[in-house]
Amino acid sequence: MARVHAGGSTRLTEKPLLDTLVETTLDVCRETGHPLQLHTGFGDPDVDLLQANPLLLRPVLEDPRWARVPIVVLHMAYPYFREAAFMAAVWPQLHVDLSLALPFLGAGGVSPLIDMLSLAPSSKLLYGSDLGGLPELFALSADWARANLGEALSWLVERGDIDLEDARRVGRQILTDNATALYRLSG
Ligand SMILES: [Zn+2]
Repeated sequence: MARVHAGGSTRLTEKPLLDTLVETTLDVCRETGHPLQLHTGFGDPDVDLLQANPLLLRPVLEDPRWARVPIVVLHMAYPYFREAAFMAAVWPQLHVDLSLALPFLGAGGVSPLIDMLSLAPSSKLLYGSDLGGLPELFALSADWARANLGEALSWLVERGDIDLEDARRVGRQILTDNATALYRLSG
């Protein structure tokens, strides 16, 4: 407060304070049944990418107090998407939001998606755009993400990893079913 009153930044950066706020938020999520979204990987230009590796969440994921709190790591944890895919396979409560990587990687989003689909359970992956502002961007992002996801799933179908019916089911899970269930969007 003293810093802000002196004209300084309103951004909270003190680690002990942030750690306490995260723990309090985890407690609230446990009591209310809400998932906790955490920024991981790239995002704002001032991010310390070394500290944005989702593997650093291990103490939280293995703490029995929050074992049942669903945690959603955002932005595909890019460039740590392989770590995120592994974590989604290992920890039941961990989910991966694909936003920002889709749409900002453009056509380059296909390859990370193939990695994610090959390792993470399809029930743990959620489409997101992370966009705000112009409504046209939401439509464009949705189009590009569908195209990338379609291409990644086709790649797996062509090689016999999954059949066409599985691909349709997985596409639907990622684009709608998983988010509807996790965020209790229906009813
Ligand atoms: Zn974000």
